[in-house]
Amino acid sequence: MTLREVTATQELEVTDTQALLSQLCMGGPVPQDALNLSEQDMAMAALYTAMYGETIECHVPCSACDRKFETQFELSDWIASLRSGPDITRTGPNTFLYSDFSFRVPMSGDLDALGDVPPKARAKQLAQACVLEGTPDQQELEAALMRAGPMLDDDIEAHCPHCDAHQTFPLRLDAYFWAALRRERPIIIREIHQIAMAYNWPRSEIMSLPRSLRREHVRLILSDHRPRGVSSWR
Ligand SMILES: [Zn+2]
Repeated sequence: MTLREVTATQELEVTDTQALLSQLCMGGPVPQDALNLSEQDMAMAALYTAMYGETIECHVPCSACDRKFETQFELSDWIASLRSGPDITRTGPNTFLYSDFSFRVPMSGDLDALGDVPPKARAKQLAQACVLEGTPDQQELEAALMRAGPMLDDDIEAHCPHCDAHQTFPLRLDAYFWAALRRERPIIIREIHQIAMAYNWPRSEIMSLPRSLRREHVRLILSDHRPRGVSSWR
């Protein structure tokens, strides 16, 4: 899957990250059943990295002392840690073999089919729906599934720097990415404003600039407006 670069139109107007991913796929949207859930998450990770870089930065309240702290890690390290697990054999585009059972990684349709299954039972039922042959032990099945198709929806371990309490907090890349897009909204609007003021270009033209080119123009505009001979940090 090759992704084209995002524009301000998409950054400001998409309604969710899946829609953004579909719009940026060269050759048109990928049908839902073409990628399993892990492949969808990996495509989302590639888009996140292209837009914001590798780092994931979380501000979370401590479960023990309730004070907020910051923790950060690299997206590639997160993916690598999720992929640790038993050695499995790929036997087809989405079929795998481990021990005495074969399985596949879940698709969107599997999630839809869960319907009203209570949250606690969902992971187990989803994993069981992916068994193709054999009767695996649930723990073995989940480990093999994680290795074949990790999903970026996990409990992250952290230490509170204030009280040293060890804890976990849930993180879903999809939701984190969406929050990052929302947080950047005022910055993007400011960039459009700066380019419009400096060049007098029509809004539609600015809105369709690739993100990196838009930022390059803003950098030039800001460096031109800085008084000469004055340090930028004064
Ligand atoms: Zn604490």
